[in-house]
Amino acid sequence: MQNRLIKKTGDEISPLGFGAMRLPLKNGKVNRELAKEQIYHAIDSGINFIDTAYLYGDSETFLGEVLQGEYKDKVKLCSKLPSINVRKYEDMEKYLDEQLKRLQRDCIDYYLIHSIDLKTFNRLLKRDLLKFISKAKEEGKIKHIGFSYHGPKDEFETVLDGYDWDVVMIQYNYFDDNVQVGMEGIERAASRGMGIFVMEPLKGGILAGKMPKEAEDILRKADANKSNAQWALEWVLNNGNITCVLSGMNSIDQIDENIEIASKTTPLSLSFDEMETIEYVKRVMRNSLKINCSTCGYCVPCPQGVNIPTCMRIYNEKYLFEHKGLFNPSLIDYFQYVGGVMGNASNAGLCNGCGKCLRKCPQKLDIISELEKVKKEFEFPGMDYVLLFIRKVGFPVYKYLVKLLNR
Ligand code: SF4
Ligand code: SF4
Repeated sequence: MQNRLIKKTGDEISPLGFGAMRLPLKNGKVNRELAKEQIYHAIDSGINFIDTAYLYGDSETFLGEVLQGEYKDKVKLCSKLPSINVRKYEDMEKYLDEQLKRLQRDCIDYYLIHSIDLKTFNRLLKRDLLKFISKAKEEGKIKHIGFSYHGPKDEFETVLDGYDWDVVMIQYNYFDDNVQVGMEGIERAASRGMGIFVMEPLKGGILAGKMPKEAEDILRKADANKSNAQWALEWVLNNGNITCVLSGMNSIDQIDENIEIASKTTPLSLSFDEMETIEYVKRVMRNSLKINCSTCGYCVPCPQGVNIPTCMRIYNEKYLFEHKGLFNPSLIDYFQYVGGVMGNASNAGLCNGCGKCLRKCPQKLDIISELEKVKKEFEFPGMDYVLLFIRKVGFPVYKYLVKLLNR
């Protein structure tokens, strides 16, 4: 693989990184034997970037155990501060010290503030985040600093301007090229010399699985031997502003397959025809959307706090990818991203019909009635109580279990 340079840090990073969120498990903990074999195989095959987080089960502890000896210096290790758990300044220092202990290191190469949007960023600033970063750098506990972003496009630049960041981790794939930071955000971060790590290149596996029939036909006709996953990974890697694509690989075959793709796909290596094929697939998929929303975000902010683009996007994906069943991926996304499980609620049901968003929509959508459809699809009487229960009981129990597992 041809490594890619992060201008701000001078590090040369493999275009494929190992995401340690989905390591194979045994009795609820990382399966040491299997995962160690996979991690060593990946490193021996050229991967030099491993990504984990405080919240990824016992993955930090596992990596601390196995990245020793010759493997310690062969990789750049990235981990993340659990911003959701930070209540006061001291929490940040406590988590970082605990992470260093788990990882059995004096210093973390890349330390990211996990999952922030502008609101979370402002909350952390009030708890002296910048003092924490400076002190951790001075003390040599972290080498480079960044954040993983989960907010809307229009807030990205404000977070970007909030500190002299080295790297950012974003969600990016050919279907969501306009969601969250989008192409503009990537160019902004790249123009500062920042490293850009991509999560969800396969949209949580959706772009590697069964696609709508017309899209499948286009891809097979263009190249009968190329898998859907390959198309999706190549598209991301073709962008020279992207430093590294993270993949949560959990088999040797998958590691080898992804390494082969990452080795072949250098910046701008896709042909005009290949790029056109992806554009065509995107167009076909967008044309099959139930609501003609481009997720441009011009309609927000809404005075009621409704996250209109995300509500529309999740509704569209439910039909496009035929998500069915009680706990289908779209319903989980709806709870997670707009239901308020992770922060403030911004669901369709909050709309009071004021109409302020209507004239801002370039697609001239009747946003009020579209939101009604979304509400009907995902919301139910008592939903607020269910979400409150998840937040107040489910999460604390989950955190407690994670802590127990890590002992
Ligand atoms: S009509 Fe609904 S979604 Fe639009 S601005 Fe008013 S409250 Fe927000
Ligand atoms: S509803 Fe309209 S303005 Fe809002 S994100 Fe969709 S297309 Fe853009």
